[in-house]
Amino acid sequence: MNKKTVRDVDLAGKRVLMRVDFNVPLDEGEITDDTRIQAALPTIRYLLDREPKALILMSHLGRPKGKRAPAMSLAPVAANLSAILEFDVAFADDCVGNAATGAIAALPVGGVILLENTRFHTGETTNDSEFARELALNGDIFVNDAFGTAHRAHASNVGVASQLEAVAGLLLEREIDYLATALENPRRPFVAILGGAKVSGKIDVIEALLGKVDMLLVGGGMANTFFAAQGRDMADSLVEADALEIARELLKDAGDKLQLPADQRIADSFRNDAQHQVIAADADVPSCWQSLDIGPDTVRSYRQALQGAGTVVWNGPMGVFEMPAFAKGTFGIAEALAEQTAKGATTIVGGGDSAAAVEQAGLAEQLSHISTGGGASLELLEGKILPGLAALTDR
Ligand code: AMP
Repeated sequence: MNKKTVRDVDLAGKRVLMRVDFNVPLDEGEITDDTRIQAALPTIRYLLDREPKALILMSHLGRPKGKRAPAMSLAPVAANLSAILEFDVAFADDCVGNAATGAIAALPVGGVILLENTRFHTGETTNDSEFARELALNGDIFVNDAFGTAHRAHASNVGVASQLEAVAGLLLEREIDYLATALENPRRPFVAILGGAKVSGKIDVIEALLGKVDMLLVGGGMANTFFAAQGRDMADSLVEADALEIARELLKDAGDKLQLPADQRIADSFRNDAQHQVIAADADVPSCWQSLDIGPDTVRSYRQALQGAGTVVWNGPMGVFEMPAFAKGTFGIAEALAEQTAKGATTIVGGGDSAAAVEQAGLAEQLSHISTGGGASLELLEGKILPGLAALTDR
């Protein structure tokens, strides 16, 4: 990475302003999953060990659209972080103005404070330069560790970086290292596995990956659209009628590189307790039935295809894994990845649903890297430049 990181700068005695991704799920003020807070801890601890004057954390949470919304306050996150760090993390009721600067000035030396949701101001998502200037007043140096928002050009990650020396945190660096290395210089064979609901949102990823990988294994709802493009009757399965033409072209361009499921688990309704059975991929789906997972032969053949892989990138579940009856395909692929990791492959899971599935399967620790940013990792896989990274100070 040609950008400065926290390791390249002197932080002692400075007010370190750090953009984190604390966009955690909340249920009536209770944090239901603190993965993102945990992911920021290595950088937070690294910075505190460097004896800064103060560590000032800022983040967005949800989509309050420029207005104060108590349900999207970061106050519960400050309490959670205090409990994890075992010392008091202060909280400022606003991310700019006197509420912020006053609370920062009142911190003890080496104190930590979390500022209120940056998206309570419209200037955040419009990357307003005046708002960015006000945010920058909160620190002497800027650290960006929010990989989850690195694909957005907002004031708290991009605008502020033009006002202060701006460096990457350890999480951002690790995310870029894994994903960029995989794409630029992968150990081969390089295999990508793509799933999820739709082809349409992932056309750019498929095209970009086809130019780089040795094999592309397809599952999930998106496989249905490819099958329909080949003329198979998919009955009530999720099929994108307006993506059929592009699916046909992708199949033609991909040749043998792109593999579709050998069998599928079909159901008579979209419910966990539906009747279900496995059919081969050359059979039509019976009327009123729908395909909700890859079948056991596909898990076996994809597992076989992964044998000896040097690098594997996975984005998107293989079926409706949220329902246990249709989670076997996704969990089977997660197990195959764990198996290959143990044999020396670098295995990377793009964030979002596939990351959640790997966590649910209890296999997260057994893979090389689980990304904390679904959207950002997809854009990297598409070969796009992330604005949050581009804005940082060059080495
Ligand atoms: P995406 O955000 O595009 O990665 O899609 C993730 C969603 O795709 C998950 O919520 C899955 O339940 C859903 N999904 C995966 N396979 C299927 C399928 N065969 N039919 C309908 N939805 C699916």
